[in-house]
This record gives sequence, structure tokens and C-alpha cells, in this order.
Amino acid sequence: MQSQTREISEQITCFGEGKRYMITTLGCQMNEHDSEVMSAMLENLGYCPTDLPEEADLIIINTCAVRKKPEDKVASMLGKYHSLKDQKKELILAVGGCMTQQEEVALYIKNRFKQVDLVFGTHALPRLPYLIDQARKNKETIIDITEDYSGREELPSKPFSSFHAWVPIIYGCNNFCAYCLVPYVRGRERSRRPEDIISEVRSLAGRNYREITLLGQNVNSYGQDLEADLTFAKLLGDIGRVEGLTRIRFMTSHPKDLSPELIEAVRQEEKVCEHFHLPVQAGSNRILEKMNRRYTREQYLELVKEIKSAIPGVSITSDIIVGFPGETGEDFADTLDLIKNVRFDSAFAFIYSPRKGTRASRMEDNISYNEKEKRLQQLNKVQQRISKEENERLVGKIMEVMVEGPSKSDPGMQTGRLRTNKLVHFKGPSELTGKLALVEITEARTWNLFAELKEVVD
Ligand code: SAH
Ligand code: SF4
Repeated sequence: MQSQTREISEQITCFGEGKRYMITTLGCQMNEHDSEVMSAMLENLGYCPTDLPEEADLIIINTCAVRKKPEDKVASMLGKYHSLKDQKKELILAVGGCMTQQEEVALYIKNRFKQVDLVFGTHALPRLPYLIDQARKNKETIIDITEDYSGREELPSKPFSSFHAWVPIIYGCNNFCAYCLVPYVRGRERSRRPEDIISEVRSLAGRNYREITLLGQNVNSYGQDLEADLTFAKLLGDIGRVEGLTRIRFMTSHPKDLSPELIEAVRQEEKVCEHFHLPVQAGSNRILEKMNRRYTREQYLELVKEIKSAIPGVSITSDIIVGFPGETGEDFADTLDLIKNVRFDSAFAFIYSPRKGTRASRMEDNISYNEKEKRLQQLNKVQQRISKEENERLVGKIMEVMVEGPSKSDPGMQTGRLRTNKLVHFKGPSELTGKLALVEITEARTWNLFAELKEVVD
């Protein structure tokens, strides 16, 4: 199939010359990276990017299936794009990603939204040029949701940022947490070969990308499916030696697989940033077990203690689900107690969203939505107070930021990121993007910090 894909690609001429594309990305960083891969492929076909749907000849919606909310967004976007299709008959409308990898959803989109020309799943990425070519030649909606991902490794990528790049190290997930669709729509774990990762990182560093984030649903299980005796900690050490890189990040860490060896690697490797995104999901052992997370509250708290004592100044962030089926007031109180105990720097909290086909969707759920909303608000209030207090500890300190560019809310300010992943706004010239600078923290808020620029490092 791999060589067939290549042959097909070679036959396809630059049919995108003079045309524009727009990609809307929903969901996580892996989706963001997939969109970067799509961009590179489309630009190889001659397409140029645009942010304006009215200007586009090709619109791709890269969807997310993790909760119902992003799914609803897709339906409203498709409704909006319907009229564009009336104005421009040759417009190609494509829907891809996690949501459409599910056969039922793919067929629903094809039947319900007649304006859609192409529906493709997460595994179809290598065939995208061929599929778009088919879509522009056919009246019928084209669907590709096969589970064949051959050719994925060789695809180019075009980072959207000028200094930061996402680098996937492991695809898919084997964990089957009871609430989660990811293993169904992204397939089983597949670690990339270390030599491919290192050569991609070297190439990025050679093109002046200074910061990379290593991606995986569970980076800690990297290497388990490879023949070589390799762990994520060892890989981090090897990547740390690539010249030209300034900062290395990674996400997501599953608590059940986070080894002492990894904590030691983060402590030792100068370029590896002191930040762990370590989703806990719940603070009650009863719920953790029903979720199939395979760690206890006590083990999680012990892990946090080890990380904090080994790495001074480390930040720990998390994801939490409230209102999982059967969550009692007592279970929820355990979650509140855990977040007060850990003191996360920040945490994303979500109301449980039933996903068809998962184990949790078949569990009895007798808590009202109203009660779930109340719990979410209560949890957010506690976490926001903690986030602000943790940020306040930084006021008066001189800290290093990587400058990301003008602030989204105030273009007169620049935004930088601390090694701990916190955002800092400060006054400074716009040419600093992609540079390291030292700033003095002057004010702490819940979601970000304010600072004064002290020195541009390089
Ligand atoms: N692999 C990552 C998370 C991927 S999904 C991990 O294991 O942490 C990102 C987050 O979405 C999860 O951490 C979880 O908090 C949330 N999530 C996943 N499925 C959900 C569902 N059905 N309802 C609500 N939140 C969900
Ligand atoms: Fe989903 Fe669990 Fe896999 Fe994360 S580890 S992607 S939550 S199944």
C-alpha cells in the first residue's frame, strides 16, 4: 500500500496551483500537528493558505471526538459553509480527523450534509492528495476511513510557528480508559523509530526551530512496542544532545507509567523543561477504578511528591473529569481534596461526556446535568484560587521566557512562555519572537503573569 500511495502521489500533478486552502483545527495538539502535515501536503500540491473561508477553494475541518461539544461545533460550521458552496460550485469541503474515523459518524456526515465532498479518518493522512483529487473529479462524496496508515512516517510537516514544532513520538493509545474514544479512533500504540525522531529533530534544529514538544497520548509508554531496549527517558537524553535546540517539552504523561528514570532525565537534561502534564481525572479510588486508570489516589500523590522533591520549581498541570457515571458527593469531595493537596499550577476540568462505544457509556449515570455543572463550577473556583496563589509566588522573580509574539488580547504587549509553560505578558519590541529573554514578574493573575523585560538573552 505504501508504494501504491507513493505512485498515486507521483501521478497527481500540482492541481492546487493558484488555489487557496483553509484548515480549521479542533481538539488536541496531535490534531494541530496533523493539520501541519496536511498544510505541507497541500502546499506541495501548489495550494496557498488563507484564513478567509470566502477566499478558499478547499476547506478542511480537522475534527475532535473526545467530547460532544467539539462535535456540535462541526455541525454548525458545516451549516455555515453550505452557503459558500452555493456561491462557489468548485469549492471542496472536507471533514477529517477523530470524529470521522468512526464509521457511523462518517456515514451520518455524508448523508446529512450533502455539501461535503470528502470525509476522511485519522489514518487516511498519507492518501490526502489522492482523496482531494478524487473529490474534485467526482460528484459523490468520497469516504476513506480504512485503518491503513502506511506511509504516515514519511509525510512532511510545516510547523505553523516560526520557532516551535510538534514532534509525534508515539501514535495511538492502548489504555482504554472507560470514558475515552481515543483508542478507537487513533488505533493501537505505535512508537516511531528513534532514528526517525532524531533525524526530524536535527532537521528542525537546522531550520532554526528552537523549541519542540514531543507528542503522544502517553509518552511514557514510548518504546514498549519496539524491539530495541528503549525508554522515553533514554530518548529524551538522546534528543537533549541535538545541537541548536533550546527547549524540549513533552506531553501527555500517564501517571501509571511515569518512571523514576524519567523524573531523573527531566531533572538532569538542561534543555528539558520542568513541566509535567499529568492528568489525574479523579481523586476517588472508586472512580479511578471504574475509569480503568490503573493507579490509586495514593500512588498519584506519591508520584507528585517525588516529582516536586526532585525538581525544584517544577509545574504540574492536569485534566479532571467531573460527573463520571456514579460519582457520589463523597467521590467528588475526594477530587476537591486531591487538587487542594497537589496544588496544580492549572487544570482543565470537563463535565463527563458519554461517547458511544466506550465502556462508560453503558454505565448507569444517575447524576443530573445540573449537579454536574455545579460540581464543575465548584472545582474550577478552587483550582482558580490555587492557580493564582501559585502564580503569586513568582512575583519579583527574574525568569526566562521564550517570546511567542504579540499578545492575542493586547497587540501592544509581547507574550512569552516560562519553562514551566506559564504565559507572561510584557512590553517589548515585536522583533523578539523566537528569542529567549529575561523578565521580572510584576503581577500574577489566574491564567497568566505580567512582567517587565530585563534583558534579551539570544
Ligand atoms: N491521553 C491523554 C488525554 C487525551 S484526551 C491522557 O490520558 O491524559 C484529553 C482529556 O479529555 C482527557 O485527559 C480527559 O480529561 C478528557 N476526556 C476524554 N474523554 C472524555 C469524555 N468522554 N468526557 C469528558 N472528558 C473527556
Ligand atoms: Fe484516552 Fe486514557 Fe488513552 Fe488518554 S490514556 S488517550 S484518556 S484512553
